[in-house]
Amino acid sequence: MARRLEGKVALITGAGSGIGRESSLLFAAEGAAVVVVDRDDDGGQQTVEAVKASGGRAVFVHADVSRTEDCAGMVATAEEEFGNLHVLFNNAGVMDGRDDDAVSTDETIWDLTMQVNAKGVFLGCKHGIPALRRAGGGSIINTASFVASLGAATPQIAYTASKGAVLALTRELAVVHAREKIRVNALCPGPLRTELLMKVLDTNQKKQRRLVHIPMGRFGTAREIAQAALFLASDESSFVTGTNFLVDGGITAAYVTPE
Ligand code: NAD
Repeated sequence: MARRLEGKVALITGAGSGIGRESSLLFAAEGAAVVVVDRDDDGGQQTVEAVKASGGRAVFVHADVSRTEDCAGMVATAEEEFGNLHVLFNNAGVMDGRDDDAVSTDETIWDLTMQVNAKGVFLGCKHGIPALRRAGGGSIINTASFVASLGAATPQIAYTASKGAVLALTRELAVVHAREKIRVNALCPGPLRTELLMKVLDTNQKKQRRLVHIPMGRFGTAREIAQAALFLASDESSFVTGTNFLVDGGITAAYVTPE
């Protein structure tokens, strides 16, 4: 059977951990050459080693997605190393434990969160879209979150606003670039058992408070999000653009969850 990303080059930000690492492994197993981008060098290198150990192709690029020169560099590396760029997965994100309601949250936390989660996606697109044009089209996947669609019970005002920005900019990009054969979709994970969330939900009580809202009664895994990203990256989703693709265990569908 043909592999689902055969011949494609994919750049994944935040690929040193969680969703980005699982997506790197899955995309490579499906035939893509992967540009592993992270500001954490150890995590990024470990992802590259894991891809190579399972017979895939990958290269690491150190980049902070909130810096324009770093984003230019990661895209240049994709084209230099592998000739083209077909899939741009803007996935890097931060959630600060001090992010709270509007009254308590410090301005610095707002700025840091917006710099990475919102501006990072903008800069990825700013530098990535010209490369996708040179390749004759492609797929952009922007990681947002279910909190862009729901008011969170646990306040995190900067994070929520930053993910709302990702949804809005995804829709506009999808419309503007549709005739260039560039598809743009937002991927909205529900609560996951990854480093990012478990660091914040650091007590059993906090975990249970979140779990009561999920009809499936469990946290998702990074692998389950990677599988959805694979669909959006591949030509199987050739008529899908501008969507808010929820992969959330039913959390946004629930009014009351079953006992
Ligand atoms: P993670 O913390 O496991 O991985 C995030 C990676 O991004 C890390 O390797 C980190 O070093 C990297 N990163 C952070 N800031 C960066 C920057 N400025 N430049 C480059 N790399 C940077 O988290 P994850 O759960 O895999 O999250 C991935 C994405 O999914 C994020 O955008 C997050 O907001 C989103 N998300 C996560 C959940 C969840 O429950 N975990 C839910 C919804 C959305």
